Amino acid sequence: MIIFDSTLLPESVPESFLQTSSGLTCDGVPIAGIADAVGTPVYVYAAGAIRQAYQRLDTAFAGYPHRIHFALKSNSTLALLRLLRELGSCADANSVGELQVAERAGFTPEQLVFTGVGKTREELAYAVGRGVAAINAESPGELDRIAEVARALGKAAKVALRVNPDIDAKSHPKISTGMKVNKFGVPIEDAPQLYRERLGTPELQMVGVHIHIGSQITSVEPMVRAATALSDLAIALKADGVPLEHVDLGGGLGVSYDGQPVLSEADYAEAVLPALRRCGLPVVLEPGRSLVAAAGVLVATVVDIKTFPGGRRFAVLDAGMTELIRPAMYGAFHRIVPVAAVEPGTADETWDVVGPICESSDVFGRDRALPPLRVGDRLAILDAGAYGAVMASNYNRRLLCPEVLVDAGGWAIIRRRQTLDDILALEV
Ligand SMILES: *Cc1c(COP(=O)(O)O)cnc(C)c1O
Repeated sequence: MIIFDSTLLPESVPESFLQTSSGLTCDGVPIAGIADAVGTPVYVYAAGAIRQAYQRLDTAFAGYPHRIHFALKSNSTLALLRLLRELGSCADANSVGELQVAERAGFTPEQLVFTGVGKTREELAYAVGRGVAAINAESPGELDRIAEVARALGKAAKVALRVNPDIDAKSHPKISTGMKVNKFGVPIEDAPQLYRERLGTPELQMVGVHIHIGSQITSVEPMVRAATALSDLAIALKADGVPLEHVDLGGGLGVSYDGQPVLSEADYAEAVLPALRRCGLPVVLEPGRSLVAAAGVLVATVVDIKTFPGGRRFAVLDAGMTELIRPAMYGAFHRIVPVAAVEPGTADETWDVVGPICESSDVFGRDRALPPLRVGDRLAILDAGAYGAVMASNYNRRLLCPEVLVDAGGWAIIRRRQTLDDILALEV
């Protein structure tokens, strides 16, 4: 039986991850048991949470023709991709590597869109050769390169032009992409002419319009402005005779990292659908974070405790910015909770939770309320399923950590821990 007692936890946890009398569980499976077997650091994912997030979004858009293209860049571990594919998801790839990983996970080329600011000629040739559903083109020069590559292959490429609407996503500056200061897309006012010019190019099938204004968007207003700009442009292009087949609203739906309510899938759909209905075209969505962030935790062990004069206490973990870079890179907040059950009535202390890397930014959280900690205790960093494992590095010759998927009351390693030999195999 799962007993959820919020007094056991300094901060509330997402539904799949609950503090119980046997400690933190993932869909009912004790995380301590997984950590005992696999070691730490380790990413643990809840299949149930991914299914729920997918279904929430799919249901929210059920009244309108739509396709969900999961953004691989948020997490592209094969087992998770297969899970999403079985749910009906398509995929959004940001590199030739992601295209190929998606294909290995079973996605067909018609289920793939290919995005990315700096696609090489080789990457374009691969995508055109495979016949992906759309290449989201970033510039007039890239449109020309796609046409050249397609001509050489004797093919026609399906293309959507990424437009930059100059909308402030009101998110973190490092993950806002839809303003003129950003490097993404073409200015929206240039789009009609670019489409008109390409209508006579037989190698280019201008099938879509693409927009993606940023990530971790938690307010409805930028989403509505983006959908409106997209729809208005599509209506104008159709009037110009462009044979559009879809509009692509990108990803960007935010998640709650602090437990406070954020924009729900239903609110998002309700807000953008009136604008989309005006153009009447099927919509492509490219969610990454909102499908997987809350489904993953990073589990780590305390390897040292330090106390500084003035009373600052540090818990040093065996995981750091090499496993999860979001706090160091974006100043991102992640809740941190103990893995073991906490004795009722235990008074919290104030802790700085840090990684082992020789960088001052290698900090997971400052001034966190946690029970007394000792070396060997385990902590879980919540909402680490998106932009976690995919951004890990071998800095300090640290090995990529394993990933575990919990499903149907059991669990499996879906990526083993890297070995030093794995890394050194590349070197002379
Ligand atoms: C990053 C990205 C996404 C996914 O963004 P999320 O915020 O993770 O939903 C979708 N589309 C494009 C073009 C992207 O660059």
